[in-house]
Amino acid sequence: MRFPFALTAKIARHIIKHKLKRTPKFAMVLQLEPLHTCNLTCTGCGRIREYSTNLKDMVPLEKCLAVAAECAAPMVSICGGEPLIYPKIEELVNGLLDQKRVIYICTNGVFMRKKMRDYLAAIYSPEGEPTLKQLIAENLITEKEADAIRKADATAKAKSVIRPTQWLYWNVHVDGLEFTHDLIVEREGVFKECIAAIKMAKICGYQVATNTTVYRETDVTEIEDMFKFLSSLEVDGHTISPGYDYDAAKKDMVKRLGKNPTEFFLTRDMTRQKFAKIQEWGKHFTIFGTPVYQEFLAGKRELTCTAWAIPTYNIKGWKAPCYLMTDGHYDGYQEMLTKVNWEKYGVVNGVARDPRCEHCMVHCGYDPSGALGTNYQSGDNWKNFSYNFGTKPKPYPTSPELATRAFNGATIGKGHLAKAKAVINSPAAGARGAFSHNEEEPHAPHVASHCGTGDTSEREDLRAKIKAAQRPENS
Ligand code: SF4
Ligand code: SF4
Repeated sequence: MRFPFALTAKIARHIIKHKLKRTPKFAMVLQLEPLHTCNLTCTGCGRIREYSTNLKDMVPLEKCLAVAAECAAPMVSICGGEPLIYPKIEELVNGLLDQKRVIYICTNGVFMRKKMRDYLAAIYSPEGEPTLKQLIAENLITEKEADAIRKADATAKAKSVIRPTQWLYWNVHVDGLEFTHDLIVEREGVFKECIAAIKMAKICGYQVATNTTVYRETDVTEIEDMFKFLSSLEVDGHTISPGYDYDAAKKDMVKRLGKNPTEFFLTRDMTRQKFAKIQEWGKHFTIFGTPVYQEFLAGKRELTCTAWAIPTYNIKGWKAPCYLMTDGHYDGYQEMLTKVNWEKYGVVNGVARDPRCEHCMVHCGYDPSGALGTNYQSGDNWKNFSYNFGTKPKPYPTSPELATRAFNGATIGKGHLAKAKAVINSPAAGARGAFSHNEEEPHAPHVASHCGTGDTSEREDLRAKIKAAQRPENS
């Protein structure tokens, strides 16, 4: 099977239950942001710009568990900020597992190996030696770290840890191969660390997924190489979603440079070009997301946004209308469902109800639409069923050539970051300096990434535009 049976069955049961009860709106995935603190400062990151990144500003553990119970989504995506910085991340994960949720820990990967060493220490016995030896042989832990695992004291043994289970995925942010990814996260070495963490996780028995955002300058050939490389590491699944053009970075570029955003962000047409082969990718790689959503991305059909199915909870409350855009925060999920006028958002038959939604095709708005049958066409159920229950694509064969293509940045001494930063900081750089790519110059940073965007500062301008658009033509 393409995806684990227990997981697929759990989600199917959830949908069927609500369809039978005729629940008009319900949650499929909770995007839980327990904090917005991060160890990275990716260019254009909406989260670290919109919210406080002070470690004091966190959602208490009990509240995190209570909101998960309240919205009752079968899947919880723990994001942020960097969720592995959350001081009670282990307790949060284990509390959600007790609630029988499917959990995705959306991480930039930098602290994953530390968390897995904690796990290895907690379970260490001499039977664990072959695993330790393999990890040492593959340079995933040092001899010193292995010794610390072997000598784990009672406190380390009693520590709450993140254990491998079929209900948990590490969901590692990877936006390209080494050169591109390190540039996006603005730190060399992060790609290498992510790959080491993925390898270690697979050896330790965890399920691993990756998530990738595609931007205007993303090279589709590179994305295919990235899938091949990740598949050769036996990664269990990939989320891929188009970048969204309403964010802090866009505002910054518009205000500072007076540039038209369509010059450097992905429009709907461009998204469809970039994703033209997604159904083909789905045959060779384990792409998460329904085939209906894949058809939408490839430009073969329209869907209506169902952002209420992937609600976000953070330090300010339930964020409406969606993960990306903020028009308000609410105390309760049901309150948000009731008070938000959902008819104001999304794109219907190609017409944007809200200008901010115009180019959005992101998975948190439209992937649930495919699963929930909001724009049902004959045969959709069969398509979804046969995709989920179809054969899992085989891992791509590993080869030195593939690894060479993957490690195409800092590993081979391409110190691009300093140069790229100089380009960006140059007053003469303009939009081209920061957002375009040609053969002579390095890729420039994209807006980031798995943590999404959420700028509010353009809201007033946009509200004015919405009002103007809503006025009768001749008034
Ligand atoms: S995009 Fe994610 S990893 Fe990057 S700075 Fe923002 S929260 Fe951190
Ligand atoms: S279309 Fe996109 S931006 Fe608009 S409400 Fe839906 S998810 Fe949010």
